[in-house]
This record gives sequence, structure tokens and C-alpha cells, in this order.
Amino acid sequence: MAESIYSQGTKVWFEDKESGWIPGEVSFCSLLAQEDGTVELTFVNQRKKEITMKATLEDIARNSMKDTKQSLPPLCNAPEYDQVNDLTQLPYLNEPSILHVIRNRYSTHKQLYTYSGIVLVAINPFTEVQIYGQDVIQMYAGAAGKKRDEIDLDPHLFTIAEEAYRAMQRDSRDQTIIVSGESGAGKTESAKYIMRYMASMKSDVSNLIHEEAASSVEHQVLATNPILEAFGNAKTSRNDNSSRFGKYIQILFDSNSTIVGARIRTYLLERSRISFQQRSERNYHIFYQLCQGVASLPDSERAEFGLDGLDSDLTDGKEFRYLSSSSSSFKIENVDDAANFSATRQALSIVGIDSGKQLSIFRLLAGILHLGNIDIQHRRDTKDAIIDHKSDIALGKAMELLGISAEDFARCTTKKVIDARGEKYESARTVDQAVGVRDGVAKFIYDSVFDWLVRRINESLGEGSVVEGEEDEDRTYEKSSRKGQRERTFIAVLDIYGFEHFQTNSFEQFCINYANEKLQQQFISHVFKLEQAEYALESIDWTTIDFSDNQPCIDLIEGRLGILALLDEESRLATGTDDSFIEKLNSQLKSPSSQHKGIFKDHLHGNEAFTIAHYAGDVSYNIDGFLEKNRGTVPDEHRDLLMGSTNAFLREVVEVGSNVGIDNHATSNVHHSSKAVSGRKPTQCSIFKSSLFTLTEALKQTSVHYIRCIKPNEDKTPWMFDGGLVAAQLRACGVLETIRITSEGYPTRWKYEEFVDRYGKSPTYR
Ligand code: ATP
Ligand code: MG
Repeated sequence: MAESIYSQGTKVWFEDKESGWIPGEVSFCSLLAQEDGTVELTFVNQRKKEITMKATLEDIARNSMKDTKQSLPPLCNAPEYDQVNDLTQLPYLNEPSILHVIRNRYSTHKQLYTYSGIVLVAINPFTEVQIYGQDVIQMYAGAAGKKRDEIDLDPHLFTIAEEAYRAMQRDSRDQTIIVSGESGAGKTESAKYIMRYMASMKSDVSNLIHEEAASSVEHQVLATNPILEAFGNAKTSRNDNSSRFGKYIQILFDSNSTIVGARIRTYLLERSRISFQQRSERNYHIFYQLCQGVASLPDSERAEFGLDGLDSDLTDGKEFRYLSSSSSSFKIENVDDAANFSATRQALSIVGIDSGKQLSIFRLLAGILHLGNIDIQHRRDTKDAIIDHKSDIALGKAMELLGISAEDFARCTTKKVIDARGEKYESARTVDQAVGVRDGVAKFIYDSVFDWLVRRINESLGEGSVVEGEEDEDRTYEKSSRKGQRERTFIAVLDIYGFEHFQTNSFEQFCINYANEKLQQQFISHVFKLEQAEYALESIDWTTIDFSDNQPCIDLIEGRLGILALLDEESRLATGTDDSFIEKLNSQLKSPSSQHKGIFKDHLHGNEAFTIAHYAGDVSYNIDGFLEKNRGTVPDEHRDLLMGSTNAFLREVVEVGSNVGIDNHATSNVHHSSKAVSGRKPTQCSIFKSSLFTLTEALKQTSVHYIRCIKPNEDKTPWMFDGGLVAAQLRACGVLETIRITSEGYPTRWKYEEFVDRYGKSPTYR
């Protein structure tokens, strides 16, 4: 009956251009249907604006008008629901009602967290909040074993952490907490709080005396954060501390549920940042830390590194091309790079990287900075590149630090060797090409340093799983228990870049969004497919909910003859260019009969970009630089120079980079075998694809928990809530759909045997 849903006085939501949604109510509702079967409804909103609609009873029941597809104003919940902990408890589940609750909790009551069924929605406060202290940790840990609704505690990151911990103990099963959200939404901060919770719920790490603390495994695990942030985070236009890599960290527990170590796997560090940053962005923090903190290094290194004007007119780093492409953002407000430098060094020491090794790392970083200052000029009237290897100070310094002959480097960089059927001859590179090679070397070294660090951390913290004499590559992802070692379980936290859609999108966004498609699929299948399959299996009456399956998009990207395959094919051709790549894409994927129709889209950019219809929206990718970024390698001559360096640490680092294919450590078996078979250098996207494959396989072996971080406004203003912005993010991460399914579904599910086992000790059940 129409009257039972909308009657006079029923509170509704009105769509409003300015504020998104505003409250209103039904001011008139005809009691009887007219001859054409419709009833007339008049709604009035807060601003006294009226609309009148005619709807059939069927329209009302479906809440949309068959003829116009227009929706009737969604229903408002009673005020007692304004602050519910779990959105699935709302009688009326619609976008404005959900936004209303989240906004009310956040802006009015300063509550950052709200459950949405299995997902925890977390809104960034953009200011310090006192809800993560040891007292709070103890409170949540004290509620151990109780269900959410049995405890009188607000939703929190710690509830999720505690649930994961309990589930691990109870089921002896590995757990993963997936933290997602767009840049600046709070993923990394949340991941750190969760790690801190794990580290201190049993013992308060802050109370340990200094020496004890520094050596405790918990501290070592926590020390990985400042290290990875120094080397892998940077200031971007959206986040002063933006992670430029994805991270999957497993915290290892023994059979007593005590932390015994950790293993880290990282994904696709953004390399382009090494040589270029957008306006108001910076290079990786560590470079500024080093330049600002160089005074704390021993005099000999200080002079050797040439970072502070001791042997030239260089001062605090501004003269380095790699640090000054955006000079306006050399400093970050409220960040003390020099102080952070000592924090980074301390953290390095905690994970077992001693000061000698630290200096070796900084030597390479200094080398990279000087490398960027090498002057590459035109040879008189030509485009040919020349480097004056005798007088270029930067070249001399860089090569001294890297242990490579300046003359050799200059020659290889300005000339390439062409092998024409056994006959070798040299040909000049253009200035642009030579600059590309120089920058490529810098990126390669930095990326290798990053890989080396992660590998080292894994060696010192992953002790639980290391088997003497075993190949490093196999170490990280094999569960020790499978090898007959002591029992280990883990709780992992995945902190991975959310979906990105900028004005200009490139190779990096393509990879990031591909990763998000994979995670979205995992999420969808977890929440929807499993749930519905289960209901079907148990013959429970259930109307299938439509959900958008993103398999076609994944097929487009990673399928046989998909975008990745074509990109690799083109990258391996000596003659391949970005243009030939997009031609290939268009000819193979855009035909009207193509299975990818509608997903690989026509675009408005001529031959400069291609568009993919992602689950979270269409994104156009500019093809500029796709091939070079995908090849991600240095010319063979340079690789030989690096391998033959007199700097033993550089040789060690580069070896890691080359062996593991520039991705770090622990690469999957799939990847290794494919490399072995083809004998080719793996491309960036093939490495990424296989590491995502390993990740999704790993996720399948674990119980998964979800945290969706939301950025409430673009200006980083505390407690400011932009409804439109939040709604878009809730939609992009599937929260709106999940709410529907969990509220309509059955909240708990037990196998009959499990149920009996746990609750029915009575012998009659046996
Ligand atoms: P990116 O994808 O760029 O790495 P992110 O999602 O990891 O972004 P964070 O670096 O975690 O974002 O958060 C951005 C900033 O927001 C932090 O530097 C901090 O200032 C603030 N912030 C995030 N979470 C919290 C929190 N729980 N309490 C206080 N401030 C927070
Ligand atoms: Mg981050």
C-alpha cells in the first residue's frame, strides 16, 4: 500500500544542488489511486520547495518511476538511528541516509569509524585524536572474544585488529586486513595503528626500557614503518606523506600468539619521481632528510658525499636537479627533515642495518643526486649528445661515489652500441635519449636500493621462516609450517593505493587501477559470490542481487592478447614506440566485434590515449612513456658498468635489482619460472602482474577483513564533511552495495558440524 510507505508527514531526502541532500517530507498524499492507477504525492523540503509526483503503487514499491526512471525521494530514518554503529541496522538503506549517519557521527560526535557490515568505514579526521593510546588498546584488547554487539565500545580500527587476532587464534588461520581508499584517505596511518595494536596489546611497548625496547621484535616490526616511509613516501599535491608503493606486511605469530617477526612485500615503487616531480611535489623524503641531516654524518663522508657545500658551492640540496624540479615545495610544513633523518637512521639500526651499511646506502643516494646534475649538451649543430667527462664536476662526483669510470659512463650514455649481425658500431644518442638513459640509471639504482632494503628487513625480521641455505626468493611467501618448521600464523595488513583518476593518467595509474580491479574482484567474490552461492547451496530463499562483476575489465587488461600482453610485445620490439603500441591496441581491441567492446572505449584524444571503463569509472590513459616505463631497465652497457663497479655495495644492490627483476624480493614462483623459460628481462608490468597474482593467491589462503578509508574533504580540514566527495568514494569501494547485501542476508553462518562442535557438547549430537 502506498500509504504505508509514503503518507502525509513521512520524512524524505531531497536532492539538492548545493548540499547534496536535504531533509523534506510528504506534504500531501492522495489516499486513493486515480483512474490511471496512480497516486499523487507532494513533497516539500526544508527550503519550502515543493514537487508533486504521480506514481503507481508499483513505482512506489520499487522507489522508481517506470516511465521516467526518476526516483521518488528516498526515505529518511527516525532520529534514533542518527548515530548507529553499523549502517546495516538502518531500516531505510539509501545513499542520503548512509551519508547522514556517517556525517553525523563524524562532524558532530567526532566518531571516525562506522561499521558497514563486514567493512569498517574510516573517515580521516585530519587532526590528532586521542583514541589510539595504550589505555584504549587495553580497552579493546579487554573485550577479547566478545562479539561487536556485546561490547559497549565504538567501532574502531582496533575492533578489526582484535577480530583478526581472535580469528587467527581460534581458527589457526592466517588473516589479512585490507586497507583501501584514495590518496590521503588515511590508509598508512590506519595500517600503522593496527600494527601498533598488535605490537602492544600484550605488552606495552612504550613502557619497555630503552635497550630492551630496541631489541624487541615488536620494535623491529614497528621500525619498518619509518624506513619504508623515508624511502617510499613523498609529498604529493594530495598528501604530504604519500606512499608511492603498495605494501603487504605479514606480522608473524608463534603458537602462543606472540609476535616473532614480519615479512614485507612491496609493489611497484613509483620510479619516475626520482628524476621529475610535479609542481608542489617532492622527491622521496630520504633525499631531503639526507641533505638536511648531513651534518650528523662523520666528517669524512660529509666531504665525500658533497651535499653541503664542503667541497663545492652546493647548499642544502636545492642545487640538485632531481630535488628542485619543484623548488616551491622543498620543505614540508611541520616536518623536520633533519630530525626525521636521525629517526630513519635509528630505525635502520633497529632492524640490523648498522651505521657502516647506512653510510653505504647514503653514498649511493648522494651518487644519484650528483648523477642528475650531469650536464648533457648538444654537439655543436647536431642533436647528438655530449658530456664533457673531463670537466663535468657532477659527473666526477657521481662516478666517484658509484665507483664507475667517468669516461666510460659518459661514452656509454652519449653513444649506443649497435649490433648489426655480429658487426658492432657506435651511434650517437640525442640529448633527450642521453638524458633518458642518465635518469634511467638513477631510477634503477634507487629502485634497487629500495628492493635491497626490503630484502634486508625480511632477512632480519622474517627469521621464523628462513631456512638455512634456501633460495632467498622462495623464502618470503612459503609458510614455514609447510616446511615442517615451527607453527606460524600471520596477520597481514595490505596498504595499497586506491583507485586513481587524475586529469592526466599514465602507466602508474594504469597499474594502480589494475591492482584495484583485482582487489575489487576479490572483494566482490568474497562478499557477493560466496554469500549468494552459499544461500543457493542451502536452498535458502533469496533474490539474487545484481552486482557489477568486473571480470570483463580484468580480461581486457590481463587476458591473452589483452593490454598487458600487447604492451609487453611492443616493449620487447626494438622498434616499438608508444605510437605503435596504441595503434596495436586500437586495431586489436577496438573492433566492433571485439569481446572488449564497451570496456576498451573510444576516446576523444586521437591517438594519444586509451580509455578503460573501470568499475569505479572511466579513465583515459595517456600513452606517453608507457613503453619506457614498462621496459624499466637500463641499457646493457650500463648494467655492465654498474655490475663492474668498484663500489661493492652498489654491486650487491644492483644484483638484487637484476635478479629479482627490479621488483623486490619474494617474487612468485610463477614469475621466476616464466623468466627462466623466456630468458628475457621481465618488464615492469609482467612483474606487477605476477606479484598481484601471488597476492590474490595469498589472500585466498587467508580470512580477509576490510577497512575503507575515506577522505572527507579535499582541503585536509579537520571535521569538514563534503557529502558529494564521500558518496563518490563509498560508491567506488562498493560500500553501498555491500550494505544492501549484508542487511538482506544472514549475518552469521556456521557449518552444522562446527556449530555442534562448539555449542553442542551433548553426546546426542555426536
Ligand atoms: P596515500 O595513498 O597517498 O599513501 P594514505 O591513504 O596512506 O595516502 P595517510 O598518509 O595515511 O594517507 O594519511 C594522510 C594524512 O592524513 C596523514 O599524514 C595525517 O595527517 C592524516 N591522518 C590520516 N589518518 C589519521 C588519523 N587516524 N588521525 C589523525 N590524522 C590522520
Ligand atoms: Mg599511504
